Amino acid sequence: MLRALKSKRVTELRSQQQLRYSDQTIVITIIRSRRRRRKLSLQVGRSGVVLRAPFSTLQADIDEMLIRNRDWICQRQQVVFLQQGDVLRFQSGELHDYLGAPLALRIVAGARRAKVLAGDGELCVHGVNDDSEQVRRVLQQWYLRQAQQLFAERLALWASRLPWLSGVPELRLRRMRSRWGSCSAEGRICLNTHLIKADLRCIDYVIVHELCHIQEFNHSPRFYALMTEAMPEWRQCKAELEAVGARIVRE
Ligand SMILES: [Zn+2]
Repeated sequence: MLRALKSKRVTELRSQQQLRYSDQTIVITIIRSRRRRRKLSLQVGRSGVVLRAPFSTLQADIDEMLIRNRDWICQRQQVVFLQQGDVLRFQSGELHDYLGAPLALRIVAGARRAKVLAGDGELCVHGVNDDSEQVRRVLQQWYLRQAQQLFAERLALWASRLPWLSGVPELRLRRMRSRWGSCSAEGRICLNTHLIKADLRCIDYVIVHELCHIQEFNHSPRFYALMTEAMPEWRQCKAELEAVGARIVRE
C-alpha cells in the first residue's frame, strides 16, 4: 500500500539567495511566512541579512526589494561588522574576514570530514556541529593552510623582484596579536597568520616591509626609501591594514 504522506501545512519557508554588489556577494536569507500579511521587511543584524515576506510573494518583488535597498544593506552590513565587538562567537551568520572580504559563516552538519569552503559571500564549515569551539578549531586550521600557501607564493614573487635578494628567505607563520611580521638577523621571515584575513595588498605590504629589513635592518630613512622603491603605494596599504587590524586579530 502506498500511503500519501499527510503533510503538515508548512507555515514558514526559508531559502537563501545572493545579492551581488560591486565586488561583494551578500547572502540573503529569505523567510516566507503564512503569518505575514502584506509587507516585506528587511533586517541586517548579527545573524546576517534577512528578508521576511508573505508566503506567496513573487520572486520578482523580492528581487526588486533587494536591488532597491542594496546601498542600505551594504552600509548596514559594514556597521554591524564593525560593531561585532571583540568576541567571535563562531555561529552561523557571523561575518568573518578572508582576503579583505567579509564572509558570512555557515555551519553545515552531515559531512564525514570537516572541511571549509569559501566563496559567494559565505564561509561554509562542513562536518561540524554547532559547537563553537570545534568550529573555531577547524577554521583556525583552514586559515593556517591558506596562509601557508599564499604567503609562500607572495614571498617567492617579491623575493624575485627585489635586487638585493638572491633566494627566497625561510618563512615561518605564527598567530600573533600585536605584530604583523618580523625578520631575524639571519634573514628568516615570520608572518602573522591572521594576515590571511586582510586584502592581498596588505599582505604584500608586510612581506615587502620584512624583505626590506634584510637589506636595511632598521627603520632609517634608507629603509623607507627602499620601501618606496619596491612598493610606491605602501603608505596606503599600511593605512588599510591599520584600519582592519584590531578586527582581524580576534580569535
Ligand atoms: Zn620593521
